[in-house]
Parts: sequence; C-alpha cells; structure tokens
Amino acid sequence: MREKRVYTFGNGKAEGKADMRNLLGGKGANLAEMNLIGVPVPPGFTITTDVCNEYFEKGKSDVVAILKEDVERSVKHIETLMNSKFGDSANPLLVSVRSGARASMPGMMDTILNLGLNDDVVVGLAKKTGNERFAYDSYRRFVQMYGDVVMGLKPVNKEDIDPFEEIIQQVKAQRGIKLDNEMTTEELKQLVSLFKKAIKERTGQDFPNNPMDQLWGAICSVFDSWMNDRAILYRKMEGIPSEWGTAVSVMAMVFGNMGNTSATGVCFSRDAATGENIFNGEYLVNAQGEDVVAGIRTPQQITKEGSLRWAKQQDINEDIRSSKYPSMEEAMPEIFGQLNALQEKLEKHYHDMQDMEFTVQEGKLWFLQTRNGKRTGPAMVKIAMDLLYEGQIDEKTALGRCEPNKLDELLHPVFDKTALKQAKVLTRGLPASPGAACGQIVFFADDAEKWHADGHQVIMVRIETSPEDLAGMSAAEGILTARGGMTSHAAVVARGMGKCCVSGAGAINVDYKVRSVEIDGVILKEGDYISLNGSTGEVYLGQVNTKPAEVTGDFAELMKLCDKYTRLVVRTNADTPHDAEVARNFGAVGIGLCRTEHMFFENEKIKAMREMILSDTLEGRKKALSKLLPYQKQDFYGILKAMDGFPVNIRLLDPPLHEFVPHDLKGQEEMAKEMGVSVQKIQQRVNSLSEHNPMLGHRGCRLGNTYPEITEMQTMAILSAAIQLKKEGFDPHPEIMVPLIGIVNEFDLQEKVIRETAANLFKEEGIELPFRVGTMIEIPRAALTADYIAKNAEYFSFGTNDLTQMTYGYSRDDIASFLPVYLDKKILNVDPFQVLDQKGVGELIKIAVEKGRKTRPNLTCGICGEHGGEPSSVKFCNRVGLNYVSCSPFRVPIARLAAAQGAIEG
Ligand code: ADP
Ligand code: MG
Ligand code: MG
Repeated sequence: MREKRVYTFGNGKAEGKADMRNLLGGKGANLAEMNLIGVPVPPGFTITTDVCNEYFEKGKSDVVAILKEDVERSVKHIETLMNSKFGDSANPLLVSVRSGARASMPGMMDTILNLGLNDDVVVGLAKKTGNERFAYDSYRRFVQMYGDVVMGLKPVNKEDIDPFEEIIQQVKAQRGIKLDNEMTTEELKQLVSLFKKAIKERTGQDFPNNPMDQLWGAICSVFDSWMNDRAILYRKMEGIPSEWGTAVSVMAMVFGNMGNTSATGVCFSRDAATGENIFNGEYLVNAQGEDVVAGIRTPQQITKEGSLRWAKQQDINEDIRSSKYPSMEEAMPEIFGQLNALQEKLEKHYHDMQDMEFTVQEGKLWFLQTRNGKRTGPAMVKIAMDLLYEGQIDEKTALGRCEPNKLDELLHPVFDKTALKQAKVLTRGLPASPGAACGQIVFFADDAEKWHADGHQVIMVRIETSPEDLAGMSAAEGILTARGGMTSHAAVVARGMGKCCVSGAGAINVDYKVRSVEIDGVILKEGDYISLNGSTGEVYLGQVNTKPAEVTGDFAELMKLCDKYTRLVVRTNADTPHDAEVARNFGAVGIGLCRTEHMFFENEKIKAMREMILSDTLEGRKKALSKLLPYQKQDFYGILKAMDGFPVNIRLLDPPLHEFVPHDLKGQEEMAKEMGVSVQKIQQRVNSLSEHNPMLGHRGCRLGNTYPEITEMQTMAILSAAIQLKKEGFDPHPEIMVPLIGIVNEFDLQEKVIRETAANLFKEEGIELPFRVGTMIEIPRAALTADYIAKNAEYFSFGTNDLTQMTYGYSRDDIASFLPVYLDKKILNVDPFQVLDQKGVGELIKIAVEKGRKTRPNLTCGICGEHGGEPSSVKFCNRVGLNYVSCSPFRVPIARLAAAQGAIEG
C-alpha cells in the first residue's frame, strides 16, 4: 500500500483528527477535529509533516511528482464540496495555502491567500459575486502576498518600507486618500499591474498565471519557510527539533472582504495576558485575515465589555466609540452569538484556553483555526488553576499544564508603586503583554541584538513588528509599537516569550530614518531611556524603579499543589542571609550549597585571608586564621538563622588559593607591611602559588588536607555559630561538606579533623549539637568508589558543574570557543553545563547513589550544580532517587514545579 501523504477534511468529515498533530501539524489536526465536532470550517486537505522531511531529502521536483496525484484528487474533493472549480473563470474556486507545525509557531512560516486568481479568473470572480471591487481587492492581495513570499520581492534595506506598500502609498497619494478601503476598483486593478511589473523588474521572473503552477509554488514555499531564519531561530528558542517539519494545509477561501456584512477576526476564550476567564478578541469589517494580525489597521473589539475597556485605554469617548469602533457584539449581534457559543464549545472540547481565527462571509461564520493559546506565565498559572476549580481538568493535569521555566515571569520584578506615581506618563497603548520593562530605545531588531550583546537593556520601538523582528524582540526588555492590536504578531509573540509589550500606542510617531520617536511633543532618540508597563499599557519617560515579585494567589496555590505531589524537596544555593530569605519565601526547605569563599573577600577579611595564605609557617597561618574565625562565625550565624529549622549545607573552602592573593604591586606592598616581611618574599609566595591548571590543582579538600588548620577553623566557626543560635532558642541544622573528594582517604582524614574539632568545642561549651558531615561528589572517581566513601560520609551532594567538567574533560571556562560549533554540527544537542547529561554524567550519579546506599541505606543524596534548577535535570534527579535538588533562589519555584511533574510522570 502507498504511504498516505494527504488527508482531506470538509462538510463534517475528516480523515485526520486532533491527536494526529505530529503528522498533520497543529493547524491541520485541529481543522480536521473541528469538522468532526460540528464547527463550520471550509473544506480542504493537509499534506503531512513527513512530506516536509521528504522535501528536504529529495528536493522539489521529486516531491512534486510524488504528490501530484494526491493533490489533484484532493483539489477535486474541495471543488465538489464548494461546487466550483479551481482555475475556472466562470465559477472559480480560490484556496489558501497554510503552514502548520506540530508545535504552534505563530507567524513564523508562510501562508498565501486567494490563490487561483489570474487576469481571466478575476473577471469570473467579479461576475459570480457581483462584486468587482472585492474581486480585484482579492487579486491585488494575492499578487502582493505571492510576490513577497514565493517570488521574494522584499525590502532591500531595513529602513525601507515594503515595496508593495510603497506602491500602494503612491497610488493613494495620487488621489489624496488615506485608507486602503477608499481605493476604487480601477485603482486596485492598477495595483495588480504595478505589482506584477515590480516583481518582473526586480526578480526577473514572470508572475505565474496558471493556478496549478501557483499552487505548487505556494506548497513548496511553505516547505521552504520551515528553514527560513526566523523559523529556525524560533525553534531554537523553543527547543523545537527541525526534524518535526511543517505540514501544508490547502483549503477553500472564505472572504471577509466582501463588504460590510463580512469580517475577519481573532479571538481567545480567556485573556492570554492575565488569564482571566473573559472571552475577548479583535475583528475588522470588510477585511482579510492577515489584516488583523499584521498590525496595519488597528482592529475593533469583539465584545462590548472589551470595547469599553479599550476605549478607556485609548481615551476615546463613548459617542465616537459606539459610532466609529463598535464591538462585534453590537455591530453583528447574531454572528457574535454564534461565535460566542462556538468558542465555548471549543474550549470545553479541548479543556484549555483556545486561540481562534474566524471569518464572516456575507453573514456566515467560518472557523479557520483553533489552537491552545500562547499565554504569559501569570496567565498560564491562572488558567490552569481556574480550569481545575471549574472541574475541567484534574490536579495532575493542572500541574502538567504549567511549564516550569515560564514561572520565571512571575518572579520578575514589578514597578515600585511609589516610583510609578512620580513617573511621567508619556502616552498609553494597549497592555499587550504584562511586565515591567526599562531600557534604552532602539528601532531595529539587529540593533536590539547588538546593544543587548554589549550589555545594554533596550526597548524596541517599532511602527509595527513583523515576524522578522523575533531575535530583536527576544533581546529586548520590552516592545513598544505604534500600530497593531492585542492579537498582532508582536503581541502574540511577546506573550509567548513572556516579554513586556505595549502595542497600538497611536500617539507615537516613529521616524526610522533619523532614528527618533515623537510622543506628544517629546522627542526621544535612539539610546534614550523609557519604561513600559505591559499590564496597563503605560509608557513612561526615563527609568522607573522596580521591586521583587511575591508568591501569592494562584501562584501560591499552585506551589501548594506541587508539595502535595512531589517527592523531591527543593533547597537553595545561598551564600548570604538575604539570598537564604528570598529562597525561603519561594519555598526552599534548606540550603543545599553555601559557599564560603566569597566571605573572605570583604575588606578586613581579605587581609587576614592573605596573611594566612602568604605565611609559610603553621603558627603564622593559625594566627591569621584566628583573625578570620570571628568573621566566619558571624557569617554562618546569619545564614543558619535565616534558614532556621532547615538544614544548611556548608562547603569548606574550595577554590585555589592563588585566587585570594594580591597580584598587583600595591596589594603586595600592603601585605608586606602588614606582615613585616619584604615585598620580594610576598612576590615569591604569590609566584609559588601559581598553577598551570588551577581548576585541577591545589583546591578543594586538597587544601584542607595540606592545611588542616583551615578545616579546623571553619568547623569551629560553623559549630560555634550553631551553638550560639541554639542557646538563643533557635533550631540550627548545620551540615559540613568536604569538596572535591576523589579518594576515600581524602574524606576520612578531613572527617576526622571535623569530628575532633567538634568534640573539643562541645566539651568546652558543655553542649552537644547534632550535625552531619558529608561530601560533594564531583570527581568521577568519587562516584565510582561511592560505596567506600559512604562509610563515613553521611550525605552526598552532586556538584554537577565540576562533575560535568571532569566527565567530559571540558573546561567550563573555555567551552565557549567550541560549543557553538558543536551545537551547530549537532555533536552536542545542548550545553551540558545547562542541561544535565543524563547518559554520561547522569550514569555516574546513578552509580554513586546505588553504591552509596548499599553501604549506607539512608544516605541523603542531593544535587547542587546549576542543573538543580533546570526542569529536565530535576526530573532526572527524581527518577534516580535523589532526596533533594538545590538551585539559585529565583529558580526554587521552577524546581518545585518540575519536581512535582517528575513525581507525577514517574
Ligand atoms: P499564521 O500561522 O501566520 O496565523 P494562517 O495560515 O493561520 O497563518 O493564516 C493567516 C491568516 O489568513 C489568518 O488570519 C487566517 O484566518 C487567514 N486565512 C487562512 N486561510 C483562509 C481561508 N481559507 N479563508 C479565509 N481566510 C484564511
Ligand atoms: Mg493562524
Ligand atoms: Mg566544585
């Protein structure tokens, strides 16, 4: 049997269905499903994503030959259902050719509308519909889109306007009119021939007249668009594999541009920015799909409630609103009723917020797309929790609906209320994607990238954004556009990225050529600061202060739900009481890694530290260490107090000593004076500490084993701080961790020092305090001999940064020189320092856990590398039976959610 490459749908029947999205793409699968559940959809067919891969393997002509029969048969299928004929001038059928991948990639790939028109067919279309203007409007749109997408007539420089827009503006200027819909039929005809002429002149190619040729050109160009730059970038950002491919859906056109009983729009079953359960959307009368999302005409609201809100935001009074910008609910109440019922039906069917496209052709409603809507982090949480409360989904599903990394958006700073009151409001636009953003103005995507790379925070200011601006949007703190509504590409993409966006700020006048923007008399240039409030649509002059976010409301409820299902607990990596507090507020139940080295850098401490390192006698070192002791004790006191009641795992001194010594003459002279020795002596000692490969040199437990007095001092500091807290009525749980063990003896000797020091201290203080001694597993040999190490070590903490470094033999600090090439050549799929390598490094973890627990069944195991806050790594840690993960404070909620998901997924 031949492989099935094309799936038809139409008239309440379909060969595909919703769960075939891998093969039919999200759009194709849902077009099929909508047919099956009785939502009106124009008939059509979908070419599978497998064919896309075939296309890139075999090339264009082979694939066209393979598909020919199937496509011709499927076009007949549409013709039968539409009772018209493709390419027939008496009774023509027009189609759209649309892209659609497994994961939705809004606006990243190409779509062509009104395909099948030529100089003959357009006459037939005019006759058939009795609407000549409409026929030529469709024709000029088709030539414009096809000329751009398939034939490649695009602006040459970034400052240039679109070549087709330029022609339209010339034609309009000749007649002194402003709006597209003021053009006469004659002018539309003129546009068609001017467009074709420009295409021929600039690309050297003739515009294809034969509809079947047009169709093949469009199908191939949709496949090609899978590999365009913006689609590649989007996939990279979203982690979508290029092997997935795009499907192509071809379907009968329905027309929103047939006059005032026709319209087109986009709607959401809930608010994609805030998550509120409010049906909302935008539409345009007498327009075609692209008009709404392209941000060229500012669309009107679908619901009356939305329209009132919009008018308030735009300072438009009620008379003007209701006469000039009525909502669909007011202007087309009957259609609105149908739309409202269908959006509810679709949400109930998919049990998730839907993002839908529709067109009204002369009073008849058609759906053209539905998908689970992109949403902001806050909306993601609210919608999941609301659907749970409404009984649409269960707890596990609600947890699964939230993407751990997107919680980051709920942790972003928000504007400080008092700072906001004092800020100067320049203007207001639509609150397209919430958040607080400050930065310097740039006007072009590539500048946003460049400035960002140079360490600037930028706000991208555009007349409108197009999918080409993706990389710039991603580099910017926020986006401000003059045109475009809540459903414009800018808004949809910004919400998907969790980027603050204010769109449709009509009062701003952007001048790309001189790189400035005028807002209500204020002229701002590239590099000037502005601030955006994506939640209210307000635009402020200069920088407005921000403050950290809090975990409240639905977010707090979600976190509670995590605790109900999780097995792994989440600790934090914190070196200061402040970080410990922040993390505790985010739900951390202990510190998984407290580094001590930074504590030696502040003012007086660094001098004592240097004195310790530079002296070459035991006495000298002890003297210096005794100066450090009270400082260290103070530090540990603060941290143990901030994490009261929870374990605090403190790592003994780890970095190579030379990092602490003065390398400059001034510092060396200072130390010479301090210690009463010659500068030469200091320099000699500094030189003697220099190493060829310090990360593999004299560091970690190798320090404690060569200078046990350091371990002694640190143990004293930790335990005496704990004793003091205990006496004050607190409940400290110190853990002392020996770093960089490779050989069991390294650990055992250090453990002995720690235990003896503790015993002496407890005797002196007359108080016993429970504490634990454990080790970091970060050298492969330690993992392989974990059964020996666990004899005396009470816990393991996997230091996966070093463990990754040593397993791969990649220096963490030098990987940048080859990582991009490795990723590009697919030698590596991801940076192993960001995402735990489960096969290699993970295997070592598994071995260590198993061996360790053979010796000590209740051995506590945790992870404290960067990976402890990365969702897929957290899930791995859950699978191999670790007890906790530890991550930076701002990733704690992310790790908690990933841990709960891991427990549910099993
Ligand atoms: P994107 O992925 O960029 O949204 P789509 O394939 O969804 O691209 O199409 C772009 C626009 O064209 C949408 O607004 C859609 O509703 C409209 N459109 C697509 N096909 C048809 C059709 N057959 N009839 C009318 N409008 C269509
Ligand atoms: Mg679409
Ligand atoms: Mg380490």
